[in-house]
Amino acid sequence: MTETVTTIRETPLEKRGSVEIDAERCKGCGLCVMTCGRRVLAMSQRLNSKGYNPAEVVQPERCTGCALCALMCPDVAIRVSRSGKPRVFDRQREERGGNGK
Ligand code: SF4
Ligand code: SF4
Repeated sequence: MTETVTTIRETPLEKRGSVEIDAERCKGCGLCVMTCGRRVLAMSQRLNSKGYNPAEVVQPERCTGCALCALMCPDVAIRVSRSGKPRVFDRQREERGGNGK
């Protein structure tokens, strides 16, 4: 028990999460940017092939892997992992054919 607590405290927030955005799936709604309290994401100035300004990862080192952004995304354009492992709902979405399929 004590060992688990120590491990969590010693793991910097910055090392816990990883987020990727599929810019071609993104329709630029901005929900993920508004959702991320860590300010990891921002809207890009460039356009994707569909003419939308996609979200992009601007401060990856600040991602905790909470995956709220991925939950909010209506276009299943966000993939989040924590400590190198996909979040549970990412796997569920992939089984249904989401996330880059
Ligand atoms: S996983 Fe959490 S911290 Fe990381 S970008 Fe998404 S909302 Fe922000
Ligand atoms: S929530 Fe999804 S569709 Fe909306 S801006 Fe973010 S990545 Fe793009």
